[in-house]
Amino acid sequence: MTMKTRLITGGLVVSAYGVYPADVWIEGEKIKVLGAPGAFAGQEFDETLDASGKLVLPGLIDPHLHFNSPFMGTISVHDFKNGTAAAAHGGITTLIDFSTQPKGGSLMANLAQKEEEAGGRTYIDWSMSGILLDASPQTLEEIPQLIQAGVPTYKCFTTYKHSGRLMEDSGILKILETTARHGGMLMVHCEHDAIIERLIEKELAAGHYAPIYHARTRPPEAENLMIQRLIDLVRQVTAPVYIVHTSTAESVQIVSQARASGLPVHNETCTHYLALTEEKLLGPQAQFFICSPPLRQQRDVDALWAGLANGCVETVGSDDAGVPTVDNLRLGQGRFDKVPSGMSGIEARLSILYTEGVCKGRLSLPRLVEITSTNVARLFGLYPQKGHLSPGADADVVVYNPQGTWTMTAKTLHMNTDFCPFEGWQIQGHVDTVISRGADVIRSGQLVGQPGHGQRVFRKLNA
Ligand code: MN
Ligand code: MN
Repeated sequence: MTMKTRLITGGLVVSAYGVYPADVWIEGEKIKVLGAPGAFAGQEFDETLDASGKLVLPGLIDPHLHFNSPFMGTISVHDFKNGTAAAAHGGITTLIDFSTQPKGGSLMANLAQKEEEAGGRTYIDWSMSGILLDASPQTLEEIPQLIQAGVPTYKCFTTYKHSGRLMEDSGILKILETTARHGGMLMVHCEHDAIIERLIEKELAAGHYAPIYHARTRPPEAENLMIQRLIDLVRQVTAPVYIVHTSTAESVQIVSQARASGLPVHNETCTHYLALTEEKLLGPQAQFFICSPPLRQQRDVDALWAGLANGCVETVGSDDAGVPTVDNLRLGQGRFDKVPSGMSGIEARLSILYTEGVCKGRLSLPRLVEITSTNVARLFGLYPQKGHLSPGADADVVVYNPQGTWTMTAKTLHMNTDFCPFEGWQIQGHVDTVISRGADVIRSGQLVGQPGHGQRVFRKLNA
């Protein structure tokens, strides 16, 4: 069987290591080879894509999102079909959703259910991380099974006690032991629950119901303290941990110092913590900007950008978790603590990071690729199949046209929501073409892929 051959010619290839003009030869679903411009001029290709004046990046990977996810009485707006379509519009070729253990139940059973939900419906490749709600003997027994099933990462929460999701220190230590033995990575949502619960009670008693009190009751100290405490637990039982959605200036120092001391502690931030501040919680539509951890202050935004540039922050995820705006309003009842937290952002990450990061001199192009693709692939067991344009890797490619500007709004994006956290932002450049394992998903900005093209990726962490 002859495989389809394609050449991406004339573009500037960006990797975590540099930016260089190169032509990319794709054969079937894989990258065959890269060469200097014109190196393959004598070859015949089934199709040639002219990327002159454009950037050629490895497809982005999103390690943090919530599709079809029930939360606080509603459900997140994206499913595997519309969510992966929006993701592809945003230059994503692989995403990692969550499979949540039912309370007291089997994670493996839920994983099978999520596979059923996703199978045949995704435009791009996908995988799962688990969410652990307890550290019972049965749960600990399932961790190696989960790893064997290609799901070597799983998350727990140190907050949300009210909805039964808080993992106590004793549970975290047990999970760390199991993780160390079997070779997984524990993802952790770090916020100190008791501090938060006390502040919520206090503010509600004072009649403070407005959205800004969401930020006041989840202060940076609650996040910093819990991150430090997790690191201290990892010092007791050393296993890889990945701290999701870090949002504070202090977290950058705390985590990078732990890493410098030799501990396998990794950190992610999210698009909204790089672009928005808590002032959004004082403005119009304030309650739609409620997320946990909350939006912070400009000093935190600046520290996160600096950390991304110098390597102290390793990845950026979307934490896409918006719920229908009608449900947000209905359930919120004018009280910050009743609002289902979370925003939709799966499509915005590349545009925002390119415009606010690269164009403003806060981020180099190689670093942009590293934090959105290469590092994610390395940490989550997708490398070298994904995360880098090299011979033998999956042909997951984004062609980004840096020319031209457009206005980001709920209407100009393709997410399944009428609320856009970045409404009205001027964006530099746009996603031109997205290729998933050799096949176009987005061509000239239009969705041309097929739901069902996406495959489940079995992940395995490097020792
Ligand atoms: Mn979280
Ligand atoms: Mn999340």
